[in-house]
Amino acid sequence: LTKTYHTLRPDVPLPPPSQPLSITEFTLSLLRSGTTNPATTTLLINAVTGQRLSYAEFFRQTSSLALSLRNRYSLSKGDVAFLLCPASLHVPVLYFSLLSLGVVVSPANPLSSDSEIVHQIQLTRPSIAFATSHTSQKIPSNIRTIVIDSPEFFALSTQSQNQFNGFGSANSTHVVNQSDAAAVLFSSGTTGKVKGVTLTHRNLIALIAGLYQLKTESSPDQPPEPHPVSLITVPLFHVFGFFMLVRAVSLGETLVLMERFDFDTMLKSVEKYRIIYMPVSPPLIVAFVKSELTKKYDLSSLQLLGSGGAPLGKEVAEKFREKFPDVEITQGYGLTETGGGAARTIGPDEMKRHGSVGRLSELMEAKIVDPGTGEALPPGHRGELWLRGPTIMKGYVGDDKATAETLDSEGWLKTGDLCYFDSEGFLFIVDRLKELIKYKAYQVPPAELEQLLHTNPDIADAAVIPYPDEEAGQIPMAFVVRKPGSKITEAQVMDFVAKQVAPYKKIRRVAFINSIPKSPSGKILRRELCLMDPNSGFCS
Ligand code: AMP
Repeated sequence: LTKTYHTLRPDVPLPPPSQPLSITEFTLSLLRSGTTNPATTTLLINAVTGQRLSYAEFFRQTSSLALSLRNRYSLSKGDVAFLLCPASLHVPVLYFSLLSLGVVVSPANPLSSDSEIVHQIQLTRPSIAFATSHTSQKIPSNIRTIVIDSPEFFALSTQSQNQFNGFGSANSTHVVNQSDAAAVLFSSGTTGKVKGVTLTHRNLIALIAGLYQLKTESSPDQPPEPHPVSLITVPLFHVFGFFMLVRAVSLGETLVLMERFDFDTMLKSVEKYRIIYMPVSPPLIVAFVKSELTKKYDLSSLQLLGSGGAPLGKEVAEKFREKFPDVEITQGYGLTETGGGAARTIGPDEMKRHGSVGRLSELMEAKIVDPGTGEALPPGHRGELWLRGPTIMKGYVGDDKATAETLDSEGWLKTGDLCYFDSEGFLFIVDRLKELIKYKAYQVPPAELEQLLHTNPDIADAAVIPYPDEEAGQIPMAFVVRKPGSKITEAQVMDFVAKQVAPYKKIRRVAFINSIPKSPSGKILRRELCLMDPNSGFCS
C-alpha cells in the first residue's frame, strides 16, 4: 500500500545545488533560451493607465536600480528590504533588482495595520524599506525608506545608461548561492499571527524549472499562439502573485497589473488587453458567476482561470462552466511555505476531476498522516498532508519554535490541511485541521457547509465557525450575507442545510451580517468573525 506519494509528473533537471546561482540569473537564462525578443515584447502593462514596459526596458531599469542600490545605499547580499507597495510597474523592477543583489525581498500587504507592520519588522529586521507616498508614513521612522513613486526612485532606476549585462553576480558584490534566502513572504495568518516564510533562491529556481519544463514540452520550438497575456488580480506581495511575476519573466509572457482591484476595471481590462489567463481567488469566480457586469464586455479572449489560495466550491465551478463554457478553470493548491503550487490540474482530463486540486507538482513528494497516531495512510484515507521537495521553505524567520513544529528533521512540511489522495493520485483538500469544528466526537469541515450555503439563491456569501456549546463542545455557526431583497430567516438557513447533511453537521446557530471579511487570497478571516461574536470561542 502507498505510504509515500510521488509526483506523477516527469522529472525536472535542476542545476547542481552547489552552483552559485540567483533566481534572477536563472530566469534570464530561461528567457534567453526561448524566442522572446526583449525589444519588441511587452512584459508589464498598467491596466488603468495603459503604461507599458518592454522586456528590454525592464532589464535596463532593473540593472540601473541594482547598481544604484549597491553603490549609493550599500545594499548587499543578506540585507533585508521591507516593501509596503501596492502593485505598480515599479514593484517588479524593485523585486528583480533586489533579488539580483541577493537582498532578501520582504513585501507586506500595504493595508497592514501599524501593529502588524511592527510585528513583521521585528521578524525580518530590514535594513531598508520601500514604500509609496501613501504608505511611507506607516514605516517606523528609524528605518531608511525610499519612496518608489518619487523622482529619486525614477533617477535611481534610469540614471545608469549601461547596457544591460545580466542580473545577479554582475551587480552583486557577493556571489549569490542557491541556498541564500531570496524572499520572506508573510503567510496569511487567518487564525493566528502572521509568520515570515523564508524562501531560498533554490526554492524559486525549482518552482520555475518545473513550469518551464511543462511549457517547453507542450510547445517545443514554437512560441505559443496567441502570445500569453495574463492579468494579475492576486496581489504581488502574496506568494501567488510573486510567483506569477517570476513565472512571466522566465517564460516571456506579458502581465497586466491592477493597482487597486475593482471588478468592472478587471472585466474592461480583459476586453482591452485580450487577456488569456488570470490567476484568481475563489471569491472572484463567485463574482464571475453572480455578476451581470460580465455581459457588458467582450471576454472571448479568456481561455483559463487558475484558482487557488482557498477552496473552490464544486457548485460554483459548475455554474461557472455553464455561464462560460469556453473558459477552463485549473485548480492549484499550495501554501506560502511551498513557494507556490504543490499540486495542480494540468490539461482537460485533470480539470474534469471536480473537487480535486489536481496531482502533485513536479519534484514533490507527499504523505497523508493520521494526526492521532502519526501513521502514514493509503489512498482514500483522510489525514494531515505532509509535503517534501526542493520548493519547500527554509523556515520561518525569527521563529525557530514554529519552524521546528512545521518542518521535521527529514524535511517534511506539515501543511495543517486535512486531505486525502484517490487511487489515481488526485489530491482532495477537506479543510484546515485547525478550522475543523468538533461537534461531540465528530469533525465538521466548515468549507463543506460554506459551499452548501453558497448554493442557496437567497445567500450572497457565508462563513461557518465553531460556537462553544456545553453539551456538544462546539456547534457549527453560520454567518450569512443575504442577497439584496432576500428575507431568508435563521430557521430557513438551518433547515436548508439540515436537509442535505448528516445530523452532526447541521448548522445550529445563524447570524446575518453585511459582508464576510476575507484576505486578499480569498480566505475567510475567521478571527475577525469570531471577534464579531465574542462568545464564539474560536479565538481561544
Ligand atoms: P497561503 O499560505 O496564504 O497560501 O495559505 C495556504 C493555505 O491555503 C493552505 O494550507 C490551504 O489551507 C489553503 N489553500 C490553498 N489553495 C487551496 C485550494 N486550491 N483549495 C483549498 N484550500 C487551499
